[in-house]
This record gives sequence, C-alpha cells and structure tokens, in this order.
Amino acid sequence: MASTPANTFAGNYLDRRAEARDAVDWAREARGDSGTLFVVSAGLEQLVLAEPAPDVVFLSAEHPLVHALDDGSLTLLGWFRGARCVLASVQAEAIEAARAALPATARLSELRPLAAQLPEDSAGLLAYARALSYWRSRHQYCGVCGSPTIATRAGHVLHCTNDSCGADFFPRIDPAIIVLVTDASGERALLGRQAVWPPGRYSTIAGFVEPGESLEDGVAREVFEETGVRVASVRYQSSQPWPFPSSLMLGFQAVAASHEIAHIDGELEDAQWFTREQIAAGTPMLPPSASISYRLIETWFNAGSAIPLESQPNVGRWTTPRG
Ligand SMILES: [Zn+2]
Repeated sequence: MASTPANTFAGNYLDRRAEARDAVDWAREARGDSGTLFVVSAGLEQLVLAEPAPDVVFLSAEHPLVHALDDGSLTLLGWFRGARCVLASVQAEAIEAARAALPATARLSELRPLAAQLPEDSAGLLAYARALSYWRSRHQYCGVCGSPTIATRAGHVLHCTNDSCGADFFPRIDPAIIVLVTDASGERALLGRQAVWPPGRYSTIAGFVEPGESLEDGVAREVFEETGVRVASVRYQSSQPWPFPSSLMLGFQAVAASHEIAHIDGELEDAQWFTREQIAAGTPMLPPSASISYRLIETWFNAGSAIPLESQPNVGRWTTPRG
C-alpha cells in the first residue's frame, strides 16, 4: 500500500518463535548454545558499540557479565540474524565491573538518539528489548495483592508468587493515534505545535486512544480537542512501535469536514493549515525522518508534488529527535 520505506523500528527483523517460550529449560538451552546472542540492558539503556559504526554489543553465554546472571534476569527475544537472541538485564555497576572484558567503545546508551545511526534491524531489536525492559521493571510486584512477581514463559509473563493470588502479567502496549489531516481539497495539511517546543516546529496531531474507544473515534476526538477541526473520513496508513516507554503509534490520514481552528483542550499552542509550498520553503520545520509523523507528512506531500519531500532543498527539520 504505502510506497514509503518501513517506519523506523518496524520490520520483521526478529523471528519471535513464541512457542519456544514454553520450554521450561529454555535458559539452559540458550546458555548451552555457543551461537546465542545476548543483548545487555541496564535500566532503559542498552549496551552498544559507539565506534566505528554504532551497533548492538552482542555477548556470548561465556561472557562474565552473562555468566554471573541468574536465569530470572533473562528474556528470550527470538532469533535474530539466524541466531538465538536473549535480553540480559543487568545493573549498570556490573557493566563497569566487567569493563575490561568488553569492547573498548562499548557504552550504555538510550535508543532514541541512536536510532537513525543503527542498522535498521538492530534498531528494531533494541526497540523490542527496551519495551520489555520497561515492562519488567514496572511489574516487579503484583498489581492485585502486592506480592513479588517472578518471570515465567522465558521472561514474557510475570507471575505473582502468592499462591492464593497467582495473577499473571503480560507485556503491554499503549495504542496512540497519530494523524495527518488535510482539507477537503487535499492541498493543505493541519499541523500543530506545543508551547514547550522551540519556535517553528510543527507536527501531526497525536494522542492516546482511550478505553471504550475505536481508533477512528480516537482520531476524531484528538483532532477536535486539539484543533477544533471535525474530521469527515479517516484512513489507516501504517504503524510504528514507539517504546518510549510503551506506545504503538497508529498512523492515519484524515480529511477535514471543517477548517476553523480552535484550541479546545489547550494542549497545542498553535495549529495551522500549511500548503506544500510553505513546507518546501522551510516553514514549518518538520519532525525527524525517523518518526511516523514525518512519514505521514511525506506521503501526503509526495502525492501532490513533482519533487519528493526528501529532494526538496529548503525543507526545515527539527535538530533534535522528539516523539
Ligand atoms: Zn498477587
């Protein structure tokens, strides 16, 4: 459907083999396989190679950092580049202690500023690892009875240790819509900005889907709340995992039924209708190309321009990544 490349973090990079999570001795098998790739995370940061080209640091089962970990700190991610791949959650101090056994340029880093420099498959893998690390860190205690949880199903279920409770907790994602609204002619796009952003930056309208709401309802509500514009039709375009911390961005194109702008909920400082000519001339500044927001704008822009957005010399861009 879409002629644009896959969104950053999206792509079938990992063979998840969910059935492999049911093997009770999965961790022993992973440790016994000399080809297993261990990805290391500490909190929400991950161990990456800074030089010469940024990429994930993969450790083997024999590495002291992995060897010292208990199985409860491991999560089976799947098979990556043909090899079994396991997330190892460690303390940052353990990485410092093992410094001599690590590549000289290895360091802990947040994924977001690195995403555009990593190989696409590595960025996708780390997005998954980050989402699971966050979820596990937030479910160390049972939300029903307050007892500690333990990891089961290869780290993909956190189980309450209180036998009279026994609640299971599963990885969760928060659906959020993001939408490029055009006027009825398709010549103008509705973009908004928050007061905290540096001057000149605009982006598409976005917000979390609420319980009891369809995606289409969420699009219509968010657009109205933030801009006062009513949408007449909504069409799904593409999605993007966005593990900052646990969103799934669902990208839509919508056509407006009204054009009057009003800031109902006060979330946006400004919203305006922009033509392709304005965007090509550098105002407004667009979000980074790794974002689904940029992809949505690009798809609309290229549908009505002989010169694609990427080839426009004067397009303004945000200088730092932002969701
Ligand atoms: Zn419980």
